[in-house]
Amino acid sequence: MNAPLNIAMPVEASAAPKTYQLLIDGKHVESRDGRTLERSSPGHGFTVSRYAQAGEAEVEAAVQAAHNAFETGPWPRMKATERAAILLKAADLIEAQLEDIARLDALESGKPIAQARGEIGGAVDIWRYAAALARTLHGESYANLGDAMLGVVLREPIGVVSIITPWNFPFLIVSQKLPFALAAGCTAVVKPSEMTSASTFVLGDILMQAGLPNGVVNILAGLGGDVGAPMVSHPLVEMVSFTGSTRVGKMTMASAASSLKKVSMELGGKNGQIVFPDADLTAAADAAVFGGFFNAGECCNAGSRLIVHKAIADDFLLAVKALTAKVTVGDPLDDRTKVGAMISSDHLTKVAGYVTAAASDGSSVYSGGKQLASNAGQYLDPTIIRDVTEDMAIAREEVFGPVLSVLTFESIEKALHIANNTPYGLSAGVWSASIDTCMLVARNVRSGTVWVNTFMEGYPELPFGGYKQSGLGRELGKRAVEDYTEEKTIQFHRGQRTGWWVG
Ligand code: NAD
Repeated sequence: MNAPLNIAMPVEASAAPKTYQLLIDGKHVESRDGRTLERSSPGHGFTVSRYAQAGEAEVEAAVQAAHNAFETGPWPRMKATERAAILLKAADLIEAQLEDIARLDALESGKPIAQARGEIGGAVDIWRYAAALARTLHGESYANLGDAMLGVVLREPIGVVSIITPWNFPFLIVSQKLPFALAAGCTAVVKPSEMTSASTFVLGDILMQAGLPNGVVNILAGLGGDVGAPMVSHPLVEMVSFTGSTRVGKMTMASAASSLKKVSMELGGKNGQIVFPDADLTAAADAAVFGGFFNAGECCNAGSRLIVHKAIADDFLLAVKALTAKVTVGDPLDDRTKVGAMISSDHLTKVAGYVTAAASDGSSVYSGGKQLASNAGQYLDPTIIRDVTEDMAIAREEVFGPVLSVLTFESIEKALHIANNTPYGLSAGVWSASIDTCMLVARNVRSGTVWVNTFMEGYPELPFGGYKQSGLGRELGKRAVEDYTEEKTIQFHRGQRTGWWVG
């Protein structure tokens, strides 16, 4: 029996919680009915933040502000260089506040501080990339339509965008959307998760400080039904950019359909890492542990299914288990922590329920599987489950916790079948020294990203998104700004028009 985790109380625990007001039309405001939401640190158990809680009236005010800023404000009409300058200034300000923002995300989400720093650093890079793209956005021209015609295709900002984000990467995910929408000249209403809104409010302040005109970005804290739903159905909103669960994504798409809004959906995943006997098994074992337990498995990209060749399964799993034993679980604010707290006790119960159900379905808990005793917060032991078969819920559903399910194969066809036998299609990994094997898997896995002899790397240059029920559309990459535009075709005719219809 291990000693209980000893979680140190940070200085924030003895101070009053930080408070955040809504950002509407460049002003900080309370909600009209004075309601607030509180967020406790899942790693420590004290109240970290208190936000003004928006409702339908605040959605109306925020959408109206974004609409006015779009219709009559300077933002969509500015030169791209001017928009880029503001995005670059924002990136510098984010970088200057990196430590504070990382600490807020670690406190509110329970993620390890060292990892949070990496995410905010990654976000800075994305803001800079989006600023560069602002200046490359362009349309097309057609001078091949005859002497009298010139066709011009403009890219115009689509309008007001509703941006809705989840709790697992609070600052990073808003940074995969907002800077590209802004680069295109759009205006936005942003709703972070009700559990992790603080860093998005800090971003709002940074944007105002960087010189963003009032009303271009409006930020609302609140619940999905009260705030997210009207942000999707509002007639003045032209596009919805949503990241979250497939379940809510489907509801959001259905609601957006009533006014035929454009939607971009980044949803759940049930990603497989396939390991062949000729792989660098030391690197593959490390990636298996990383894929399974990074961000406590609360990650759309988690490599939650380890699909390993039968011939090496026993030895490989021994190596994975030995590495798992070295994963430091504990205080999110400790620099050495690799796996922090679970987002909520409800979620921990749900994840633990999957482990219990897997055991009664016939699989075996090979490592972990228990909630860890601690003086504060809620922590789950990184868990490996063996003898999983494709029909089990643990192999099919997104568990969203530190739980690695192990399935085995004997042929490449079977490995591909297992990898694809899920309604999701976000990402996959393949480990082999053979280019033929890697290429065959990479070409035949139905997912938006395939990592070959590496796992879960990300770059702003590379598009990211899901096949099947993992999403719709792509974020990042060189077309990320185009996604927030409409195309307008203009046909110029010179001289007297010939070929009269009646005449
Ligand atoms: P969630 O779907 O419960 O919530 C996401 C957001 O939607 C939150 O802000 C929530 O308040 C809001 N929401 C809830 N109900 C709504 C409604 N009726 N209308 C509009 N908005 C509503 O997801 P979560 O639990 O916050 O996040 C975890 C999920 O997100 C996982 O499924 C994970 O895979 C997914 N995710 C996907 C990616 C990706 O890039 N594909 C990245 C991160 C997380």
